[in-house]
Amino acid sequence: MYRIMTPGPTQVRENVRMARSMECTNPDLDESFVEYYRETCQLISRLLDTKNETLILSGEGILGLEAACASLTEPGDDVLVLNNGIFGEGFADFVKMYGGKPELYTVSDLETIDVDALAAFLETHHSFKYATVVHGDTPSGVLNHVEQICPLLKKYGILTVVDSVSAMFGEELHVDEAQIDILCGGSQKVVSAPPGLTFLTVSEDAKAAIKARKTPIASFYANISIFEGYYEVKWFPYTMPISDIYGLRAAMENIEADRDILKRHEDIAAATRAAVTEAGLKLHLKSGYSNTVTVFDVPDGVTDQQILDIMRTEHNIMLAGSFGNLAGKVIRIGHMGENATVENMQAVMKALDETFEKLNVPLKASLKSVFSDRLTISK
Ligand SMILES: *Cc1c(COP(=O)(O)O)cnc(C)c1O
Repeated sequence: MYRIMTPGPTQVRENVRMARSMECTNPDLDESFVEYYRETCQLISRLLDTKNETLILSGEGILGLEAACASLTEPGDDVLVLNNGIFGEGFADFVKMYGGKPELYTVSDLETIDVDALAAFLETHHSFKYATVVHGDTPSGVLNHVEQICPLLKKYGILTVVDSVSAMFGEELHVDEAQIDILCGGSQKVVSAPPGLTFLTVSEDAKAAIKARKTPIASFYANISIFEGYYEVKWFPYTMPISDIYGLRAAMENIEADRDILKRHEDIAAATRAAVTEAGLKLHLKSGYSNTVTVFDVPDGVTDQQILDIMRTEHNIMLAGSFGNLAGKVIRIGHMGENATVENMQAVMKALDETFEKLNVPLKASLKSVFSDRLTISK
């Protein structure tokens, strides 16, 4: 068994695994499951500070992104795609797939999106039906200020689709305050349930835009309006993955009970960055460091695979490299959700100290010592 320290999927707590083994009912015919589903959705809305309805869809995180685009995009629609990372750029594919015209707003992938610069751009470019933005773009770890970006877009009547799959619950997020129309989440990141589910919070404005479409949505699975009225008629558009939802509910209850979750993510992330920097390694980003993943450049003279292999085979710890233009260039430590404990992170830091020693990469300080010294929490 590896100690999973990747930026998703993350470790799954025993009570979540046990919940997934609970006895099953027929989720189509047993009305108590409709209640359970809706209560779970309401819990998610509450945790995200929104009055908007949450829908849980049967599919991994990517389905949420596709469903948001499929449901909003009509052929010919102009869509603003904010791009400072791989997931950011990827939204353009979904927009195109459903006939929309993506306009990429591309800025440095080493920094958080500059809100003032975006404001200046919007003054002269704002005829978009909706915009997409990634909260935490996991391949680089860059965090965007959605709580400033979305209200800015909304001022121009631009709806917003936010991918917070890897950020929500590890970063502060108040969906109503941030005026986010469709927020996309996933089960396998901070939430710390196994992969398999996505969930969306959907605003009244987004629902109205979907209702006002002149063309049908070119999908069934990625069409969020198929859930309309499910509760009233006690009928789901397709059979719900009941065991996955039992697990998700337990994971959400864990988050609800965890009063220090944001503080812990913040503290662990700050200590990790301090350790990486003082050890003489280089953080990949220049700004926008997320509290859920730390990304550092692979030092000269070694490869990402060498680091990952030693960590895995000699220390039983799984870290991640990255992909796209970052393939081979960085190492990612996913300190999110259940991974984000002092014990897990001390093990990672100690193992990295030993891995770099074995690879003859000299460090200026011990990662483990700096990490431990910098922590302000002890849990
Ligand atoms: C993990 C993740 C998703 C879901 O995609 P997978 O790579 O298939 O797990 C979507 N968006 C972001 C930002 C993610 O980190």
